Amino acid sequence: MYASELFCGECGWRGELTHRYSCPLCGYSLEVGYAYDKIPKAVFEESIFLGRGLWDYSALLPVREEKNIVSMQEGNTPLLDSMLLGRRLGIELFFKDETRNPTCSFKDRPNTVGISVAKELGADAVCIASTGNGAASLAAYAARAGMKCYVFVPEATPGGKILQAIAHGAQLVRVPGDYSNAFAACYEASGREGWANLTSTYINPYTMEGDKSIGYELYRQMDRKIADWIVVPLGAGAMLSGIYKAYCELMRFGLAEKLPKMLGVQARNCSPIIQAYERGLDEVGPVHTLPTAAGAIADALTGYERDGTRTLRSMRASKGAGVAVEEAEIEKWALELAREEGLFLEPASVTAIAAVERMVKSGQIGRGESVVCIMTAHGLKEPEFYETAL
Ligand SMILES: *Cc1c(COP(=O)(O)O)cnc(C)c1O
Ligand SMILES: [Zn+2]
Repeated sequence: MYASELFCGECGWRGELTHRYSCPLCGYSLEVGYAYDKIPKAVFEESIFLGRGLWDYSALLPVREEKNIVSMQEGNTPLLDSMLLGRRLGIELFFKDETRNPTCSFKDRPNTVGISVAKELGADAVCIASTGNGAASLAAYAARAGMKCYVFVPEATPGGKILQAIAHGAQLVRVPGDYSNAFAACYEASGREGWANLTSTYINPYTMEGDKSIGYELYRQMDRKIADWIVVPLGAGAMLSGIYKAYCELMRFGLAEKLPKMLGVQARNCSPIIQAYERGLDEVGPVHTLPTAAGAIADALTGYERDGTRTLRSMRASKGAGVAVEEAEIEKWALELAREEGLFLEPASVTAIAAVERMVKSGQIGRGESVVCIMTAHGLKEPEFYETAL
C-alpha cells in the first residue's frame, strides 16, 4: 500500500491516516495522499488491466492489510454501448452500468473501502447518513464484517432501500426533514458513540478512494481512450471528484494525455452545486429546495456547503460543466432508457442522460464526442416512481 497521509486541499495541513473527519486547522474536508513516486508505473498499469474488480487497485487504495478487506466483488461493472440514443443525439454514447454492483448501486465502491479502513483502524460499528442506497449498501457490508451498522435516513426515503438495510440487520434512524438533517444527526451520534462515519459526502476521506475505481475501469474498458465527457449525478459530488482523481493519477503516471470533462448533474429542484456553477460563483451557498423524484441526489448541503464547493472545483478544473434537469425530463428519459436501451434505472441515475440531451442541444457537447453516463443505481430500488411514470 502506498497511501501515505491525509491532507487538506484548502490549507495544506498533512497528517496520519487515521479516523479524522475534517482538517484540524481550517475545518475543510480531507483527502488521502499517496507516495506516487514510490509506485512503479508497471504495478499501477498492470493492476488496471487485471479486470477483476475494485480490489485489483489495492496499491492505490488506503488499506494496509488484505485481511481487513471487506468485499463482495464490487466493481468491474459493464460499459455498455448505446444502441439508439447515441445515434439519435449524434454522439458516441456509453453507459457505465453501476446497477451490477452487489447491492445494485455504485455506493458499494465507497463503502467497501470505507468499511475496510474502519475495520483496520479498529472500529466495531459504522454509521451513515444516506438517501437510501448508501444505507442499503453499508448494511450489507457491515453484515459481512460482523460490525454494527446505524443508518440515518430522511423521512421520504423509498421503502425498498430501507427494507434492504433492515434485512441486513442495520439499526434504522428516521430523521425528520431532509437529508441534511440526517447528515447532522449521524455526525453528532458518530462523535458521541465513536462509530466510524461512512457518510458519502466528503466527510470520510477514505470513501472517495473507492469512487476512483470507476475511472480506472473506464480507462481499461475504453482501451486507454479518454472520454470527452463523463456525466455524473451529484449528491455532494464525491463520486465525481473520485472519478476525476483517477484520471489525474493516470495522467501523472503518463498513461493519459488528457483529462475528461466532468459534467455534474442535479435535479433543478435541489441543485445547490449547479446554481453556483450557473452564477459563476466560487463557492456553493445555501439554496431553497423542493422535492424531486431524484431523491438519491437530493442533498441541499445545509451546513456543509463547502463539500459542494469542492465538487464545483473538480468540475471547473476539468473544464467540465454543470446542468440541472426538470422533473418532466427525468420522467421522459427514464422511460426512453427502459424502452430503447433496456436499462431500468432509478430516477437519480436518469438525470445524467437528460443532461446530455441539454448539452447536445446547446452545442456544448459537440457532434461525435464520446460521452459516458454513470448509471448509478437500479430501477427496482424505486418501483414507486415507475408506477406513476408508466
Ligand atoms: C449517492 C448517489 C449519487 C450521488 O453520489 P455522490 O457521490 O453522493 O455525489 C448518485 N446516484 C445515486 C443513485 C446515488 O445513490
Ligand atoms: Zn485545512
